[in-house]
Amino acid sequence: MRENSFRRIIQNFIINMENIQNTLTPDACGPLTEPCVFLRIGKVCADFYESPRAVETNRFEHYPMYDCGEADESSPITSVKETRVGTRIVYSVYPIIEEEPWTDEELDRIDVLLKMLFVFNGRSRLMMANYRLTFYDPDMGVYNLKFFFKSIAELIGKREITQYTAMYINLKHFSAVNLQLGRKNGNTVMKGFIMRIAELAGEDGIVARIGGDNFAVLCRQDKTEDIMDALSGTAVTYDENTGDRILISAYAGVYVIDGEIPVHTPEHIMDRMSIALAAAKARTQHDYAFFNAEMLEKNKHQLMISSLFPIALEKEEFLVYYQPKVSTDTYRIVGAEALCRWNHEGRLVSPAEFIPILERGMDICKLDFYMLDHVCRDIRRWLDEGKNAVKVSVNLSRRHLSDMDLLRHIVEIIDRNEVPHDYIEIELTETTTDVEFKDLRRVLSGLQETGISTSVDDFGVGYSSLTLIKDLPWDVLKIDRSLLPEEGSSDRKKESLLKYVIGMSSDIGLECVAEGVETKEQEQLLKTTSCSIIQGFYFDRPLPVTEFETRLDNYDYKKD
Ligand code: C2E
Ligand code: MG
Ligand code: MG
Repeated sequence: MRENSFRRIIQNFIINMENIQNTLTPDACGPLTEPCVFLRIGKVCADFYESPRAVETNRFEHYPMYDCGEADESSPITSVKETRVGTRIVYSVYPIIEEEPWTDEELDRIDVLLKMLFVFNGRSRLMMANYRLTFYDPDMGVYNLKFFFKSIAELIGKREITQYTAMYINLKHFSAVNLQLGRKNGNTVMKGFIMRIAELAGEDGIVARIGGDNFAVLCRQDKTEDIMDALSGTAVTYDENTGDRILISAYAGVYVIDGEIPVHTPEHIMDRMSIALAAAKARTQHDYAFFNAEMLEKNKHQLMISSLFPIALEKEEFLVYYQPKVSTDTYRIVGAEALCRWNHEGRLVSPAEFIPILERGMDICKLDFYMLDHVCRDIRRWLDEGKNAVKVSVNLSRRHLSDMDLLRHIVEIIDRNEVPHDYIEIELTETTTDVEFKDLRRVLSGLQETGISTSVDDFGVGYSSLTLIKDLPWDVLKIDRSLLPEEGSSDRKKESLLKYVIGMSSDIGLECVAEGVETKEQEQLLKTTSCSIIQGFYFDRPLPVTEFETRLDNYDYKKD
């Protein structure tokens, strides 16, 4: 009779335990109550050792599982259960105060109960480990992208997603932080910063690592501002002993999820966060950007250009336009700059529309080599036809600087077309970082050795520095139109600055070319300086090749 009831009790125990997600918690108390009452057990605890190493070092987690409140703490029995891979649980089972000792039969049954409990506890741990592996980032102690997607999907399912904000964040200058503090401290800092964000995101917020120094945040909309404040700069302690701290900040692409579209999907929320992040990084005033519909259009446009580019290049839809450089001593053409135009479906697309997009990747390099090749073909033809060929400058994006074989590629294109090196000039812009400075020096020195001249493009835009220019072997300084006084204005300061720049560059042996000259006054002003070469609408716009060729035959630019 008692045997039957024990069997029934164990059956119930199994059925009830099946419904519990994590059995290594007091949640197991419910299913354990009936067998514990039956077997006169006052209390059950489990000490969990993750591995043989944990056993050796006596590192365990303690889990209270059942307590009727009247346990005799003085005389527990312990039972050690172990899996084949060395995970161990030590169960402590306490009798009830002032009860008779357990009979042998009861002890056997307690062992059966513990064996069953061990099966459930083992399974729970396995599921937890599996969950952790699937949804956590092991280094940062936050969730991973899979969990982020899963949570978004759940909130969409519950129709609560429009109460949330999603952010894509990228820590600023983190490689510099790693270099400055070392990798270990770098990790501590990243963790400290991200934990602060997680704290601000609150209980129903989520912070997940996307990879490297990129994270995704999902938070209730009323938490958005606090998190953005923290992202703009938070001091993080990396050495508890000295209290040394570092200020960390991040770029943020913010998408306040709204009801703007009927159905959201995790993928499209992610897309919008990343589009906003790209916009944030492109900004100069703020390090964050809120997603808006315009960004989506822009992104579509960029994707379209990137996808059209390879075919357009193959079909030779890119045209070389030549803008003459004119001498103000002789009013004859002395050179030209090659500028790219895209003849797309009958429309001439300006480089401002596609160059910045191609510069996001390495496609720009293909275009630049294509331009150089086509310029060389034209020069070769002019020489063959006995035309008065001039030196042509070709723009090279800074993206080329990391190409260790850049010089070889340039020379190969020029030589293949049998063009003398002194007919080519390479235009590059200045650099601001040390790494690029080294690359630039390597490229410029190489070009100088092979007799190809070089020019600093757009001098006067951004942080121009003649000191940096003096340290590199440039041949020509192209003065940007922003340094020229505007029409009708008598800006004395600007004039002095222009004269100073031109004077200094002549002193350090650079030839000057003024770009973007549009008016007679500007030309007259330049004539009072040693800058005698002018490129600008005042003389000519960039011209299609056939039109440009007419300028090569003794064209007179003198205006009355
Ligand atoms: P950039 O190299 O500084 O070229 C000069 C730009 O100034 C050209 O614009 C030219 O049309 C414009 N310009 C010339 N004279 C005047 C003037 O009097 N007034 C005004 N307002 N503008 C004038 P464009 O052709 O639109 O090219 C824009 C930029 O695109 C270029 O600036 C260059 O940075 C880039 N680019 C063009 N072609 C290529 C290329 O083949 N490769 C690379 N990497 N960049 C290119
Ligand atoms: Mg240029
Ligand atoms: Mg320029």
